[in-house]
Amino acid sequence: MRALVKAHAAVGIELQDIPKPTVGPNDVMIRVRRTAICGTDMHIYNWDAWAQKTIPVPMAVGHEYSGEVVEVGSEVQGFKPGDRVSGEGHITCGYCRNCRAGRRHLCRNTQGVGVNRQGSFADYVVIPAFNAFKLPAAIDDEIASILDPLGNAVHTALAFDVVGEDVLITGAGPIGIMAAAIVRFIGARNVVITDVNDYRLDLARKMGATLALNVTRDSLDDAMKQLGMQEGFDVGLEMSGNASALRSMLRTLHHGGSVAMLGIPATEVAIDWNEVVFKGLTIKGIYGRQMFETWYKMAAMLQSGLNIRPIITHRLPVAEYQRAFEIMGAGQSGKVVMNWET
Ligand code: NAD
Ligand code: ZN
Repeated sequence: MRALVKAHAAVGIELQDIPKPTVGPNDVMIRVRRTAICGTDMHIYNWDAWAQKTIPVPMAVGHEYSGEVVEVGSEVQGFKPGDRVSGEGHITCGYCRNCRAGRRHLCRNTQGVGVNRQGSFADYVVIPAFNAFKLPAAIDDEIASILDPLGNAVHTALAFDVVGEDVLITGAGPIGIMAAAIVRFIGARNVVITDVNDYRLDLARKMGATLALNVTRDSLDDAMKQLGMQEGFDVGLEMSGNASALRSMLRTLHHGGSVAMLGIPATEVAIDWNEVVFKGLTIKGIYGRQMFETWYKMAAMLQSGLNIRPIITHRLPVAEYQRAFEIMGAGQSGKVVMNWET
């Protein structure tokens, strides 16, 4: 079968012919139809320090996908060939305390599809049936291929009550932009999003942000004045991993405000803890998606009208994967989806 393989401990990814995976008793095999490129895949492509210490070589990569079940293991119940699915990319142990309590997103033994084990940029991928998510008809293959990052956005956006609240999102990457659409959809009042990239800020405006600010030019304080906000933001969603973005968020949050932190800083970040202490802020780290509450909530939102289609800005056949990675790497895109039915 075809697969996009991290073949060597160096920059790049190759389209190769590799053996089809085999199905264990508790697994499903999925014929992949669409895949999307994640920031993680860019780290792997660029072979940065994180990738060098994390990714086994050679390995097929990728973890954002949709497809159709073509084979089920002997012990699997609830799935059959023909089911349209996407997959939760975090494979959890099932026996640790958090797993046993249903808090699978907090499993300390998590393995990532396309990170620690064979990925989904391939004609076929095998995952535990537990990780497969059956798709309602309302969610088509291309939207289904981005449920993993949409799930990050939903998990973060639902971490605190945003109904009627003023929300600041730092980072208009695909996840930040989708988060803006989500918090508007569920009833936030003002949604301000920041970035340093005008292409992405334009996309954020199209997808529902009240104001989209380029922090190299625009002031957050002026924006707050313009919106008539006296006291500060109620909820912050940190989706950039950038230190100065986090600091500006802590500074502009209202007393008693809450921060959900999804962005992953590359290094340690110093903050003014006085902001946290004297304003009584709550900061919560967000990892992955809740299994599977986030999946059910996002499916329900999509079924009831949440429109995230504009975040998919590029669609390419898998043969043009090099261009797909270039587009994603250049930052002038939302999500880039590759078609495996070509
Ligand atoms: P992305 O890298 O595409 O988006 C980050 C955005 O932040 C970029 O558009 C960048 O221009 C912007 N940015 C840079 N400096 C900024 C500044 N000073 N102020 C505001 N914005 C600034 O990433 P993404 O795929 O949208 O993911 C968002 C973040 O979430 C990343 O840090 C990613 O690593 C992280 N992530 C975390 C999890 C998790 O489970 N915790 C899962 C997926 C992604
Ligand atoms: Zn576990």
